[in-house]
Amino acid sequence: MKGLVQGVGFRPFVYRLAHIYGLTGWVENTNENVVMRVTGKSEAITLFVASLTHEAPRTAVVEEVLVDNIEAEEYAAFTIGKSQNISAQITRISPDIGVCEECLTDISLSGNRLDYSFVNCTHCGPRFSIIRDLPYDRANTTMAHFEMCPDCRKEYETISDRRFHAQPTACIHCGPRYELWIKNKLFTVDIRLILNTISRLIDSGGIVAMKGLGGMHLACNAFDDKAVKRLRLLKNREAKPFAVLFRDLESAQKYTETDAIETQSLCSWRRPIVLLQLKNINVTQEQLSPNIAAGLQQLGVMLPYMPFHYQLFEQLKINAIVLTSGNFSSEPIVIDNQVALHQFSDKTDAVLLHNRDIFNRTDDSVVKVIGGKERVFRRSRGYVPTPVAMPLSCDGIIAFGAELTNTFCVGNKTNAFLSQHIGDLKSMETTAFYEETLARFLHLFRVKPQLLAVDLHPDYISTRTAERFRPLPVVAVQHHHAHIAACMAEHHLDEKVIGIALDGTGYGADGHIWGGEFLVCDLNDFIRITHFEYVPLPGGDLASEEPWRMAVVYLYKVFGRDFQKLKLPFLQQIEPEKIEVILQMIDRKVNCPLTSSAGRLFDAVAALLGLCQAAAFPAQAPMLLESLLTRQSEYSPEYQYKYATNENISFDDTIRGIVNDVLAGVNASIIAMKFHNTIISIIFETVKSMCRQTGIQKVVLSGGVFQNGYLLENVEILLKNENLMVYSHETIPTNDGGIALGQMAVASKRRDIQCV
Ligand code: ZN
Ligand code: ZN
Ligand code: FE
Repeated sequence: MKGLVQGVGFRPFVYRLAHIYGLTGWVENTNENVVMRVTGKSEAITLFVASLTHEAPRTAVVEEVLVDNIEAEEYAAFTIGKSQNISAQITRISPDIGVCEECLTDISLSGNRLDYSFVNCTHCGPRFSIIRDLPYDRANTTMAHFEMCPDCRKEYETISDRRFHAQPTACIHCGPRYELWIKNKLFTVDIRLILNTISRLIDSGGIVAMKGLGGMHLACNAFDDKAVKRLRLLKNREAKPFAVLFRDLESAQKYTETDAIETQSLCSWRRPIVLLQLKNINVTQEQLSPNIAAGLQQLGVMLPYMPFHYQLFEQLKINAIVLTSGNFSSEPIVIDNQVALHQFSDKTDAVLLHNRDIFNRTDDSVVKVIGGKERVFRRSRGYVPTPVAMPLSCDGIIAFGAELTNTFCVGNKTNAFLSQHIGDLKSMETTAFYEETLARFLHLFRVKPQLLAVDLHPDYISTRTAERFRPLPVVAVQHHHAHIAACMAEHHLDEKVIGIALDGTGYGADGHIWGGEFLVCDLNDFIRITHFEYVPLPGGDLASEEPWRMAVVYLYKVFGRDFQKLKLPFLQQIEPEKIEVILQMIDRKVNCPLTSSAGRLFDAVAALLGLCQAAAFPAQAPMLLESLLTRQSEYSPEYQYKYATNENISFDDTIRGIVNDVLAGVNASIIAMKFHNTIISIIFETVKSMCRQTGIQKVVLSGGVFQNGYLLENVEILLKNENLMVYSHETIPTNDGGIALGQMAVASKRRDIQCV
């Protein structure tokens, strides 16, 4: 059997099945797969083989079962053999798994796991975050220095036990423990006292730093506006939404809308942050702090996944706490105990640490359900390091990724191992994390570097990191080609497709800044068929932090200097002198690169509506714009603005229409809907005409703009109604977190056809 079948209780599962069907023989782990040999009645063997896939443990991923009939051999019983290393090849490392029901029962019963926060078994617990090397044995994890007590050892060695070969297994006598620090002093290691103290602190408005599975968290009362504001100050995070950990599903559903798929994501063993629509809460109910996700209609929701989370909610009076990563602005999440004490002791009311080291840092993952499917926006805890099966060999390729929202990717055979979310490489600490993790991935997945894949942008830090691996050959991949290739790789496509890449920024093949691109491409190369019309980007990167600049750009383009006479409320928010500076920059072409960015167009419209003049975090303006849509908003071609498609796609008429509506006092949510519909319509009409011209029937959608649920869902419906095959991202981020996978796909193709 191939797939993720190790470290998830697979051999004991096989053992139990063999007993059920009265079979004898053996099962063994090798480095590459799980091998078994069984003797028994042929009907029983057939049922056994079927059950291997259908009844596999929830965290196992069975990819292939190869069955062969061989000469029968007599065995006295069914046995589990030792792990064998038959080659330098590896199989899989399981992502970290949320605590299971049975383990939760264990901590409520008397015995050596009563109140024990580090309980785990073969079905649950830490994996990737504690693994230093392969094979997956305790000695290769951060549990190595904890000697198992006789009781734990016995469970570990008993085939029928749920903890048979559970590498991180432990109990109150032999395992890790929590320690609570207050004002830089060790306060207690007693778990009851810890729980009492922390719950009292949080209930009453304090902030606690808590060491989690993949890094430090900061927690506070989600209903206490003062506490949330203080947390924002502490983190130096003005407005970016915080995630909320709810006591249970029922509490989460009081505040957010959840359909069946969203519930499934919330409750899955991966336990991601799920972005959900906020409900209109009746006034009698306790209100979540409006500072958690200011101005947005969606909330990032998580359910408990560590034993400690459950223990804490037993003591807490409230049903929800803010749980955000323990870091400062764009630095990576803190994992080291000493660093945590140093950074958080003075700024928080208590620091909770434990002595099970985190080796691989992972943030909480973020997903959103769009069009009935879970889409991963930030891929980290619970998802990494599951590889992507590539259409071609990517052996020895390193793809270095983009600049913001960075991830990288390394290749072994046809497996592409995409790293966890790394972050913004413009911070030095993040760059150090990037380099360290890259070295670890190369070792862990036994990759011998042969070929490098980078972004076309000459100044990306990721591109410069690749220089260190010279003189290996380098493939430079255009950003939007990489977006489409990432989505193709995710869906195992290796052919000509129509690719629509809409995002914030990417370095274009003509040196301009792209972001609204309609391509015909395969994994090797692309042709740009059309794009959003170029406009100046006054101040370059600064323009994306100040959406009002883009509003001025579009107004100036459409109305000339007369736009300043328009009675737009938005213009009253900006000083005329500042506007004048922008106009001069445009006139004189000073620091005004050209851009076809879709993200900047969304920025302009959001600013025009007075939603956001300065962005507190990337994509804030487009998110606020999307937030004006309700679940009841529906695509209708009558509700949209005009646009022009000549040499490229021009929005002059769109801007004119929006300005008219604003001046006529039309409700902002109607304008937002009409604008979204305009973009949907443009994609729909352009794709249809591209299909007619090329005969291609497969359409691939990628880029950060497709995180917009209304846009993605409606584009998919329209195109599918035309009998086109539509592909969008699910397990790989549609934002720049997917770029490395696309770079890898392109590099593997070019090597395959010997273009490297
Ligand atoms: Zn368990
Ligand atoms: Zn023990
Ligand atoms: Fe991008």
